[in-house]
Amino acid sequence: MSGLTLSHVTKEFGTFKAVNNVSLSVPEGTFVCLLGPSGCGKTTLMRMVAGLDLPTEGSITLGGEDITRVPTHKRNLGMVFQSLALFPHLTVGENIAYALRIRGVSKDEQKKRVDELLSMIHLPGFSDRSVNKLSGGQRQRIAIARALAISPKLFLLDEPLSALDAKLREAMQVELRQLQQRLGITTIVVTHDQREAMTMADTVVVMNGGEVRQAAAPVDIYRRPADSFVADFIGSTNLIPFTTDGKGEASIFGSSVAGLTLGTTRSGTISVRPEDVQIVPSAESSLAGKVTFVRDLGGSVETFIEAGGQQIVAVSAPRSRPDVTVGQTVGLRFDPETSVVLAR
Ligand code: ATP
Repeated sequence: MSGLTLSHVTKEFGTFKAVNNVSLSVPEGTFVCLLGPSGCGKTTLMRMVAGLDLPTEGSITLGGEDITRVPTHKRNLGMVFQSLALFPHLTVGENIAYALRIRGVSKDEQKKRVDELLSMIHLPGFSDRSVNKLSGGQRQRIAIARALAISPKLFLLDEPLSALDAKLREAMQVELRQLQQRLGITTIVVTHDQREAMTMADTVVVMNGGEVRQAAAPVDIYRRPADSFVADFIGSTNLIPFTTDGKGEASIFGSSVAGLTLGTTRSGTISVRPEDVQIVPSAESSLAGKVTFVRDLGGSVETFIEAGGQQIVAVSAPRSRPDVTVGQTVGLRFDPETSVVLAR
């Protein structure tokens, strides 16, 4: 029963459901990213875990204890929120030791802990510096150290890296993940950046419209998306409608496709990642399309094909670039291993 559990958590603002019946289990020591478009309810969900908002319905437990109505300061949390800036009039060391001082920890203990945390975030000797003279990345690390000073049971971060430039942000993602692994601390990060989520998380929780659409390991979110929202939100994909004769024979764009087992549902949508679309001579596939555009990005080549009235994108490495020209009719093949039938 250790770790964090959310059971049927709902948050209403008036008649609007910002979070709708979310159940989620975060095992102790794991790293979870809440990911989704703006307004999907990530921050509201996080605020309830932090005790900054009360759920309208449902319950939250931490380490087996019901904390749904426990005030924030009694939850033993470390928080880094975008809006929670460092105290500008305090030194780096005073910032980090802030929560320790309030808890009456001795000066010696404070100093020891500050030094420990500074070396952990790769800023040894920074204790007496003014926080106003730090770079963005350094500030972010100090904010993280400050939140970790009390050795919290749960570490919550809301868009912690969004103010940093792209390069620094990527470096900090790796750093944050390594730090979390070293400390083994249960961590939840809110982000709208899928690359960030895929870099850091053990479990990515994809949200939309206040609901959890899928919670799974990054590779499974990418390879086995549960529905068309997840498939489209994570990376890019081709969403292709199909029908079946009810016995396993499938048709796409009105042509029957051998070898693609799509079950016995009458119709639905499959997700095929661009790197899984194979371009073959038109005689070798019942699925035909016309090349409309080729984009050579140097590191990869994208071929746009119009088939069945929709656009299909195929991506290949430059070395296996398909030998095609715009206007040419080509055949398409989807690998049954990588074509995912979506739930909705
Ligand atoms: P973003 O990435 O833009 O921060 P988010 O996924 O974190 O978005 P939330 O901040 O959780 O989204 O908001 C979810 C929805 O709830 C939004 O439509 C928002 O307008 C609404 N909302 C949030 N807080 C309140 C509030 N205090 N009163 C009324 N509506 C609110």
